[in-house]
Amino acid sequence: MTTMPASKTSPLSAGRYSSENRPYVWIDGEMLPKSQAKVSVWDHGLLYGDGCFEGIRVYGKRIFKNRQHLDRIYRNCERLRIEMWMSRDEMTAMMRECIEANGLSDGYIRLLVTRGVGSLGLNPFKCPKASVICIADQIALYPPEMYSDGMRIIVAKRPRTPTACLDPSLKSLNYLNNILAKMEAIDAGCLECIMLSVDGYVGECTGDNLFIVKGGKVLTSPLDVGMLDGVTRAFVIGTLCPRLGIAIEERRLRVEDVTAADEVFLTGTAAEIIAVTQVGDVRIGTGKEGALVKRLRAGFKDIVGQNAPEE
Ligand code: PMP
Repeated sequence: MTTMPASKTSPLSAGRYSSENRPYVWIDGEMLPKSQAKVSVWDHGLLYGDGCFEGIRVYGKRIFKNRQHLDRIYRNCERLRIEMWMSRDEMTAMMRECIEANGLSDGYIRLLVTRGVGSLGLNPFKCPKASVICIADQIALYPPEMYSDGMRIIVAKRPRTPTACLDPSLKSLNYLNNILAKMEAIDAGCLECIMLSVDGYVGECTGDNLFIVKGGKVLTSPLDVGMLDGVTRAFVIGTLCPRLGIAIEERRLRVEDVTAADEVFLTGTAAEIIAVTQVGDVRIGTGKEGALVKRLRAGFKDIVGQNAPEE
């Protein structure tokens, strides 16, 4: 078994993590105060968006869906042929240290793996060692009133990157497709938008998966439309809906299905579950958060608020 390089500013017991230096950021074995948390300009994560990441929630000091997030980031490292030098146990221990150092009870972890420092050319094999970065802090993606009232989204003109070009299931550091679509949304006066696949199916939004409710049933497009295999999406499909006795089905959705839906909602680690009450100019259902999304949101809060063991 490999041993994780001890954080040079560890241990916690030494009382080194003073609150005024928070957030502390873990970079390649060092726990650094915010002011010193810096990366090299030669890092291919910066030069080329070459790397991958995870957004992970912490509820009651527990890492929510840790195994699923680790599965995804290790799988993505493999797909990118980035050699990971930390074991999953070491990664988990490191995230726990970040939670402690930052005094988090409920919060958000951003875990990044970059190709590491290399030369100015593209060649990834000139980067001898990947860089691992962990930021543990707070996140508020949407204002609180959007959770009670629902949000308006648009359909972006820009389609999702086709799977054959850059598979959207790869949570890479290259988010320009999403950022450009997000700018369309902001220009249109909202914060999120549907990104259609090139063949016109409703895939996902810039940072969230999308579901509709029709006739009491929850529907979402299958992953092969081209989207991120969201951890929250999987939780809604595999745990939340079954527990609440709500029928769920994967079906290829078009914009017309979304605008004709009784309810629409988005899911994501940072967003959690949030109702969409308007798509472009079209009001969804009553124009308020619907009964089913309300139940799902309450069910979600219930589960993450329990002292359930980490998976
Ligand atoms: N789609 C995209 C493009 C995302 O970036 C994210 C995560 N922010 C999601 C969907 C939701 O995935 P998860 O539930 O794993 O956070």
